[in-house]
Amino acid sequence: MNEEQRLENTQVKSADKKSEKDYSKYFQTVYMPPSLKDAKARGKETVAYHKDFAISEEFRGMGQGRKFYIRTYGCQMNEHDTEVMAGIFLALGYEPTNTVEDANVILLNTCAIRENAENKVFGELGHLKPLKQRNPDVLIGVCGCMSQEESVVNKILQKHHHVDMIFGTHNIHRLPNILNEAYLSKEMVIEVWSKEGDVIENLPKVRKGEIKAWVNIMYGCDKFCTYCIVPYTRGKERSRRPEDIIQEVRHLAAQGYKEITLLGQNVNAYGKDFEDIKYGLGDLMDEIRKVDVARIRFTTSHPRDFDDHLIEVLAKGGNLVDHIHLPVQSGSSDVLKIMARKYTREQYLELVRKIKEAIPTASLTTDIIVGFPNETEEQFEETISLYKEVGFDSAYTFIYSPREGTPAAKMQDNVPMEVKKARLQRLNAVVNEFSAQKMQEYVGQVVEVLVEGESKNNPDVLAGYTAKSKLVNFRGPKSATGQLVKVKITAAKTWSLNGEMVEEAAEVK
Ligand code: SF4
Repeated sequence: MNEEQRLENTQVKSADKKSEKDYSKYFQTVYMPPSLKDAKARGKETVAYHKDFAISEEFRGMGQGRKFYIRTYGCQMNEHDTEVMAGIFLALGYEPTNTVEDANVILLNTCAIRENAENKVFGELGHLKPLKQRNPDVLIGVCGCMSQEESVVNKILQKHHHVDMIFGTHNIHRLPNILNEAYLSKEMVIEVWSKEGDVIENLPKVRKGEIKAWVNIMYGCDKFCTYCIVPYTRGKERSRRPEDIIQEVRHLAAQGYKEITLLGQNVNAYGKDFEDIKYGLGDLMDEIRKVDVARIRFTTSHPRDFDDHLIEVLAKGGNLVDHIHLPVQSGSSDVLKIMARKYTREQYLELVRKIKEAIPTASLTTDIIVGFPNETEEQFEETISLYKEVGFDSAYTFIYSPREGTPAAKMQDNVPMEVKKARLQRLNAVVNEFSAQKMQEYVGQVVEVLVEGESKNNPDVLAGYTAKSKLVNFRGPKSATGQLVKVKITAAKTWSLNGEMVEEAAEVK
C-alpha cells in the first residue's frame, strides 16, 4: 500500500480516553501490532518517491506564539528524524525551546531497541504528568520506534491519559495533521502505520550543528535478526535514489559541513531494492568521495552485505574514513545461527581479513551481545577469542534482553542473569584493555582532529574527533571550532587522548 492508497483508507484516529480495555478497534485501520508473518510478507508493494511535501494552507501559522521541545532517545536515525520534525515545526511557525516548562508541544522521540530505553520513556511520561495538570493546553506526544509496538500503545492508553498524540516512524510527514487533530480533539490522537510508507524527499530539516551532518540513504531493514525489533518498527528496506542523496551531500558540502555520515539500519543493503538499476553502497561511496567534504562515514554495516566492491572503493581513501563499525554480535557460529545473522565466525573473519588487506590502516569497532539464549561458556569464549583475533579498537557491549514481538523473545532466556553479568564484565575487561593499548599507540603521533568545540568537562579545553573517531582534548583557540587541525598526542587514556595543537603540517596518522 503506498501513501495515496493508505490515505484513502486512513485518517487520524482519536481514541476515547474514558473507554477501557478493548483498544483493538482503534487499530483496525491505523495500527497493526508487529507481526513476523506480515512483515515477511512485505516487499510486493511498490515504493513511490514523493517530492511534493508542503505545509497545507490551513496549517500555516499554527505555531505562531508557540514553542516545541523534542527529547530524542536511541540511535542516529532517531536523531535525524528529530531534525526532520524540528524542520516541520519551524515551517509551521513554532519556535524551539530547551525546556519542557516553556514548551507548548513536547515530543518524546523514542527507542525500542532495549527494555531499559523503554522504561526511561515511561519514567519521563510520569514526570510530565504534573506539568500537564498545571498546564492542560500543552500537547504531549510519543513518537519513534516505541509507538510502533502494540503493547506500548496499550500501556499509554491505560496509564498515561495525559498523552495527547501517538504517531509512528512512518507518519512523521503527517505531523501537521496530527497536531491539528490534537488541538481540535479532547481525545488521544493515534496514527501509527505498521507497514512502511513511501520515500518522501523534500521534508524540511533543522540540522543539529554546523560541522557534522547525517544523511539517510535508506530506511528499514529486511535482515530479521531474531533479537531485533527494527524490521517491525522501521519496515522494509527502501533506498533513496542516488541522485537525491548526492544532491543532499553536495548541498551540505556547499554549506560548509566537514563530516557527513550516511545512515541506514543496514547500509550495506543499499540499492538491493532498486529494480531498474544495479547500484550498491560501493557505487554510491565512489561518487560521494568526489564531493568536497573532509570526511565521509557510513553506519550501520551488516557483515553479510559488505561486498568486495565497497572494500575496493573504501581503499581509495581520501575523504572516506578508515574507521569501519562492523557489528559481529557473537564469535560463535552456533549463536550467530540462532541470532539469524546469516554469516559464520569464519565468514566474518574472512571479511575482516579482506578489509585489512585492502586498507591496512583500517580500525574496526563492533557491537556484541552476551548471554543470548542457549549461549554456553565455550560459545562465549569464542566471542572473546574473536575479539582478540580481530583486535577491535572498541565495542558496544550489551547483555541480551528479550524484546516482545521478536522471535528470540519466544526462546527460553536460559542464561542466568548473574552469568550474563559476569560474562559482560569479562568481555568489557578485554574491550578496555584493547582500547587502552590502541590509544597508547597514538602517543607522540600527530593526528588530524575535527574540532567540535569546548570540552564538556573544561571550557578552556577544545575537543574533537580523529577520522577513526578517537576523542582528542587539547588547548587551542576557540576559532579552531569547526576546523581540521593537527594535534600532537601527549597522553592516552582508555577512551580519549590528550594533545597539543601543532602549527605546521606533519605526517598524519
Ligand atoms: S541488521 Fe541490524 S537493524 Fe536489521 S534486524 Fe539485524 S540488528 Fe536489527
